[in-house]
Amino acid sequence: MSPLKTLFLNPPSYEGFDGGAGSRYQARREIRSFWYPTWLAQPAAMVPGSRLIDAPARGLTLEDLLPIAGDYELAVLHTSTPSFRSDARVAEAFRDANPRLRIGFVGAHVAVSPEASLRASDAIEFVAREEFDYTIQEIAQGRPLESVDGISYRAGDRIVHNRPRAIVENMDALPFVTDVYARDLVIEDYFIGYLLHPYVSLYTGRGCRSRCTFCLWPQTVGGHRYRTRSPQSVFEEIALGRSSFPQVKEFFFDDDTFTDDLPRAEAIARLLSRLSVTWSCNAKPNVPYESLKVLKDNGLRLLLVGYETGSQQILNNIRKGTRIDIARRFTEDCHRLGITIHGTFIMGLPGETRETIESTIAFAREINPHTIQVSLAAPYPGTELFRQAQEQGWLGREAEALVGEDGIQISAITYPHLTAGEISAALERFYRRFYFRPTKVAEMAAEMLTSREMMKRRLREGIEFFRFLSGREARA
Ligand code: SF4
Repeated sequence: MSPLKTLFLNPPSYEGFDGGAGSRYQARREIRSFWYPTWLAQPAAMVPGSRLIDAPARGLTLEDLLPIAGDYELAVLHTSTPSFRSDARVAEAFRDANPRLRIGFVGAHVAVSPEASLRASDAIEFVAREEFDYTIQEIAQGRPLESVDGISYRAGDRIVHNRPRAIVENMDALPFVTDVYARDLVIEDYFIGYLLHPYVSLYTGRGCRSRCTFCLWPQTVGGHRYRTRSPQSVFEEIALGRSSFPQVKEFFFDDDTFTDDLPRAEAIARLLSRLSVTWSCNAKPNVPYESLKVLKDNGLRLLLVGYETGSQQILNNIRKGTRIDIARRFTEDCHRLGITIHGTFIMGLPGETRETIESTIAFAREINPHTIQVSLAAPYPGTELFRQAQEQGWLGREAEALVGEDGIQISAITYPHLTAGEISAALERFYRRFYFRPTKVAEMAAEMLTSREMMKRRLREGIEFFRFLSGREARA
C-alpha cells in the first residue's frame, strides 16, 4: 500500500518567526534568523513522496498555502507554545479547504499538553508525544490510530492516549535529513547571524546529559541520554551534503551538546578533515584545551556556548553543571586557538537580582565572545523552570505568553524584587554595553572589511539590530 500523500508543514505565524521545528526557543530574533526545520525533515525522509514546507523561512502566508491543501491526505504541523493558537488557525483553514485532510500536530508543546491541545481545536485529529519519527511514518503508512504508539487522538468526544513511543536507540537507522533539504528547501533561506552563509545544520545525536531547569528539549522530547549516530554515518552525510550543496560554507551540528561525548566528537572531527569542510557546533563551556585543539585542527570554526549567566549561584540554581572559573579558562583557550565563540546568556533566571545582571554583563565583556545572544528566561510548559515559576507565583497573568504580538520574546517571569520590565530592560542594556564598546566596534568593522559580502550582510544585520533595540525601547 502506498503511503498517504503527506505534507510536513512549519506553519506561517508571526512575520519572521523562527519556529520550533529546528529552533529551541521560538521567537522572532534581533536579526532575521532561521534554523532548519530538522525535526520535520527527519520523518519527511521516512515517508516516500512527502513534501516539507517551511513557511516562515520561505516567507509564505496562509493564503499562499491554502491552494495546495487539496493535494494532500495527511498534514503534519510542527507547533510550539508561542505559536500554538496561530498554528491551530492554520489547521482549521486547511481543514475547511480540504475536509478529508487528516491533521496531526507534533512538537514539545503538544507532547506536554496533548489533551488540552486536542480540545483547543477540532481540526487536530491527533498529536504525537515523545519523538515522533516512527509515529508519523506509521500513520502515513495507513496504520489505524489505535495501534500507533506515542499519540493522543480524538475518538468522537473522547480523547484517547495510546501507550508511549519507545525512544529511538539506533540513530544510524534514521535516514539523512540532507536529502529532504535538497528535495524541498532553499538553503539560502537559512540565516543565522554568527554562521557563515549559506550553512546547513543537522543533528548527529539527540538528548543532553545536563539537566538545566529551563531547557525545553531534553525535558520534553530528547531526554537526558545522548544517543548518537556513528562517526562514519556522520561522515557519510556530510560528504553527501557537500556534493548536494557545493555552495555551503559551513556545517553546523545542532546536537544539544555535541561535546557531551568528547572521544566521539574528536573521532568525527578527524574523519571530517578528509573532506576539508568547515564546521561548528553547540558546546558547554567546559571542554578541555586538548580536545579543543583536536577539533580546531580538524575544521572546527565556531562554538555556540551556553554561558547563561556570570553568577555561580544562578548556575547552581538552574543546575547548569558549569563553573565560572572553568568557563573563563575555556574561553581563554578558545581565544588562544582561534575558535570563534557565539555566547548565549539569559536574563531573569531564578536568583537574578539587579546586582547579578550587572555582574553578568561585566563577565560577558571580560571573557569577550565574538558575538552574543541575550534571551529572557522563558518558562516553557514541561520544564522544571515552569513548575518552579508556577509554584512560586513568578508567572505573569498569561502563563504561556512567551512572545508579544510581533513574535518578539517578552519577559514571562516577574519576581517580587525584580519586575518583568526590569528584566526586559536589562536585555537591551546588555546588548548595548557589550557591542557599543570601541574594541568591539573595531572588531566588527574589521570583519566587514574581509569581503563585500560580509560588509553587506553586517550592514543589513546592523540595521535590523538597531530596529530591534529601538522597538524594545518603544515597548518598554
Ligand atoms: S547543556 Fe544546553 S542543551 Fe543541555 S540541558 Fe543545558 S541548556 Fe539544554
